[in-house]
Amino acid sequence: MNGERGSSLLPMKKITLKAGREKSLRRHHPWVFSGSIAKVDGNPGMGETVSIYDSVGAFLAYGAYSPNSQIRVRVWSWEESEIIAPDFFRKRIKHAIRLRIGEINAFNAVRLIYAESDELPGLIVDRYDDVLIMQVLSAGVEYWRETMADLLMELTQAKYVYERSDMDVRQIEGLPSRTGPMRGGTPPEKVQIDENGIKFWVDICGGHKTGFYLDQRENRAKLQKLAKDKDFLDCFAYTGGFTLNALAGGASRVTAIDSSRDALELARMNISLNGLPIEKVEFLEADVFQQLRKFRDQNKKFDLIVLDPPKFAPTVSQVKKATRGYKDINLLALKLLHPGGVLVTFSCSGGVGVELFQKIIAGAALDAGISCQIIDHLKQSPDHPVALNFPEGAYLKGFVIRILNP
Ligand code: SAH
Repeated sequence: MNGERGSSLLPMKKITLKAGREKSLRRHHPWVFSGSIAKVDGNPGMGETVSIYDSVGAFLAYGAYSPNSQIRVRVWSWEESEIIAPDFFRKRIKHAIRLRIGEINAFNAVRLIYAESDELPGLIVDRYDDVLIMQVLSAGVEYWRETMADLLMELTQAKYVYERSDMDVRQIEGLPSRTGPMRGGTPPEKVQIDENGIKFWVDICGGHKTGFYLDQRENRAKLQKLAKDKDFLDCFAYTGGFTLNALAGGASRVTAIDSSRDALELARMNISLNGLPIEKVEFLEADVFQQLRKFRDQNKKFDLIVLDPPKFAPTVSQVKKATRGYKDINLLALKLLHPGGVLVTFSCSGGVGVELFQKIIAGAALDAGISCQIIDHLKQSPDHPVALNFPEGAYLKGFVIRILNP
C-alpha cells in the first residue's frame, strides 16, 4: 500500500477504470478515454494530476485530468514512485533535448519536444534560432504551463519563449486560444533559420503551426536532388520550402501555388534572401483544386510535382471526405506529368494511414490510366519521433512516384 509516503505525497485524486479497460494502459498507450472510467475520486480540476488504478485497485499510472475531453486522462508516468512536480518535468524536457543534440548542432531550427512521443503529452516546442515556440495542446500542460516556460528558459540558451496555442484541438480540451510572449519579452516578428544550407524567414507570430513545417526537412533535401533541369510544380507552396530546394537543385522552372498571399510574399523574400533565381519562378495565388483543372484544360505538363496539402482529415471521422480530396488532386497531378515524370505526394492527416494513402494514390493512377512505381517512402523528420507505444505520433507520410513510360 502507499503507507506514509503515499498519504503525504501521492495525489489524493484518483480514477478507477472499468474491469478489462486497463489493457491499453498496460501496453503503455498514454491515453485514458472517458468511456473506460468507472469512478473519479477527489474531484480533480482541469489538468490536475490523478493516479490511475485498475478495477481491482492496482496502480497503473499518473496522468493529467481533462474533464471536457474524450481523452479524459493523459499519462505523465508509469512509475508509482514518481512525483509529478517541476523536477519531473525538468528531467523529461532535458531528456528530449539531449536526444536531439545532433540536430541541434546541425540546424538552428529543430522540434525540441514532440508531445506524447517524448512522454510529455500535449507539449510541443519548436526552436527557431534563439526563439522557442511553445504549443499547449492539453489540459495537463496548461496546468503546468508557467513551470514549462521557466524550465525551457533554464534548459536551453533561448532568449525568448513565445506561445502559439491557437489550434482547433484546444477547443476539444475546453481551452481558449492564446498566443503571446511568455519569457524574454516580445521576440522579433520574423526569425531567420538555416535548413540544409538554405535560409528562410519564419513568421513566428503569424505563420501556420509554429511558423514553419520542420517535419519536411529531410524530404525537402530529397526534392533538391530530384530537381535538376526539371520543370517543377509546387502545390501548397507556403513560404517556399520545396520551391527554394528545387531552385537550389537546379530546376529549370518553378510554378508555386498557394492560396495565401502572405505565405507567397514570404516565399519571394526567402528566394531573394538566398540569391536564388527568382526569374525562374511563377507564383500563383490560387486554389490548388481549381488551378490543377486549369492546367489540365490548357494541356500543360510538368516534370516534377509536389503535393503537400494541409490536413484534410485531422480525425478519423473526416477520412471519407479527405479521401476524396486526396484522390482528386493526385489524379489531376498524375495527368499533368510528362512520361517519366515524378510526383512527390504527401498526407499529414493523422486519420489517413500509410496503407490507405497508398490505396488512394493507386486508385487515382488507375482512374488516370497511368502505370506508376513507388521509388521512395517519405515520413516526418527524426526530431518528430514516434513512440512505439503511441503510433498516433506518425502523421506525415509521402511517396515519390514515378510515371512509367507508355
Ligand atoms: N509545402 C510547405 C507547407 C505546406 S502547408 C512547406 O514545405 O513549407 C499547406 C499550405 O497549403 C498552406 O500554405 C496553405 O495556405 C495552403 N493551402 C491550403 N488550402 C489550399 C488550397 N485549397 N489551395 C491552395 N493552397 C492551399
